[in-house]
Amino acid sequence: MSEKIWLSSPHMSDEGYEMEYIKEAFDTNWIAPLGTNVNMFEKELAAKVGVGHAAALSSGTAAIHMALKAAGVEEGDIVFCPTLTFSATANPIMYQKAVPVFIDSDYETWNMSTEALERAFEKYPKVKAVLVVHLYGLSADMDKIVELCKKYNVILIEDAAESLGSYYKGKHTGTFGDYGIFSFNGNKIITTSGGGMLVSYNEERIAKVRFWSTQARDQARHYQHSEVGFNYRMSNVVAGIGRGQLKVLDKRVEKKNYIYEFYKRELEQLEGLEMMPINEWSTSNCWLSCITLSGHVKPIDIMLALEKENIECRPVWKPMHMQPIFKDYDFVSHYEDDVREFVPASTDETINSIAVKHEDGKQLSVSEDIFNRGICLPSDTKMTDEDLNRVCKIIKGLWV
Ligand SMILES: *Cc1c(COP(=O)(O)O)cnc(C)c1O
Repeated sequence: MSEKIWLSSPHMSDEGYEMEYIKEAFDTNWIAPLGTNVNMFEKELAAKVGVGHAAALSSGTAAIHMALKAAGVEEGDIVFCPTLTFSATANPIMYQKAVPVFIDSDYETWNMSTEALERAFEKYPKVKAVLVVHLYGLSADMDKIVELCKKYNVILIEDAAESLGSYYKGKHTGTFGDYGIFSFNGNKIITTSGGGMLVSYNEERIAKVRFWSTQARDQARHYQHSEVGFNYRMSNVVAGIGRGQLKVLDKRVEKKNYIYEFYKRELEQLEGLEMMPINEWSTSNCWLSCITLSGHVKPIDIMLALEKENIECRPVWKPMHMQPIFKDYDFVSHYEDDVREFVPASTDETINSIAVKHEDGKQLSVSEDIFNRGICLPSDTKMTDEDLNRVCKIIKGLWV
């Protein structure tokens, strides 16, 4: 069997930066709870993305949860959330017993459709917060989204879990809204094995999140609590990995872009194959190189062909409004005439098919279409040119 090629696996620095910081934590017996690595990782990440304050947490999901809580999202509140994303974006809305309304994508960004967002605001003027995602390192159209949130006076949270190192018009993704979050899960562009960060310009809110995420202990000699607490803080060992990884972030972004350009050069001439859209107003970290297909070759063909050769690849995220768990929540399509009555599209449940179609033959929404035709190619920063050629050769083989 040929050597495994991963979609996106952890990649520690050649220099061993991570071990140095971990060793420091061990040598000073500062394994836990907090400590220098946590404090410094917060400062270093905040400086890197250009935001005032940061709180290091146990996961990106925890960071989204804390962002919603800091935003004052409570039971029954409506939160706009992109439908085309990983479930970890939407789950914290449920933790707060709030109500997600799923917003379609547009083809220009793959992210939140500002046309759908505008219609959602008209339909739900009392919405509490907007949660936007920068999918696969592609930035959403922030000027329009920020403008709409200002107009309706609504809190903006950015899920930048996949977009560390991606910029919109020169400004780092995750720093446009009231809150931004990053993830250091194992498959992200840099990893701490698991972890997350909440960033904000609001120092007081970040302090509050640190308080909630360390069990909400009041300032008293005895153990006293006036609020429900969480155990969401990052450990000092884990933060050491993060500090080391942050030093090689630019290198990882460079390599991910190289991978994207390699695929573009080798594959874009194949009929019906299109690379994911990188707009001229953004620079992408190219976390995953995704493509869509509109010809005779289907995503499943590529997936099976690569799988057979021990190469990992994945479908594009299945939209949230099509998920059994979220089937009762509203969905606002990019298309004005596409009004759903809480009836999600049917999906073919067989394991090897991801196709979706509407029973009444209605046009697919943008997110459904991208899901149907999209695929994430292996984008591991440890891949060599030889590996990339191996992948391209298998894919090209499907066109002959
Ligand atoms: C990975 C990811 C998360 C969750 O981050 P964790 O650190 O794994 O909890 C949230 N949103 C998106 C879009 C992600 O890709």
